[in-house]
Amino acid sequence: MDRFFTQKLCYRCGGSLENGRIMSMFNKECICMECCKKEKLDKDYDKASKADHDEIEKGNYNYKGTRG
Ligand SMILES: [Zn+2]
Repeated sequence: MDRFFTQKLCYRCGGSLENGRIMSMFNKECICMECCKKEKLDKDYDKASKADHDEIEKGNYNYKGTRG
């Protein structure tokens, strides 16, 4: 988690994170907004999003994600 805020480049595409960073819904990778948009088009996004939400409801804030 500490690396999330210090990371300079998108973990996935290597692009700059200057325009915003977000954690992947599938794992703990720090990605750029462009990759986030692409991730939302993934057929498994809804499933991953729901799984993440369910884990948080259970009190697990360290859920690694469906692909973590
Ligand atoms: Zn990216």
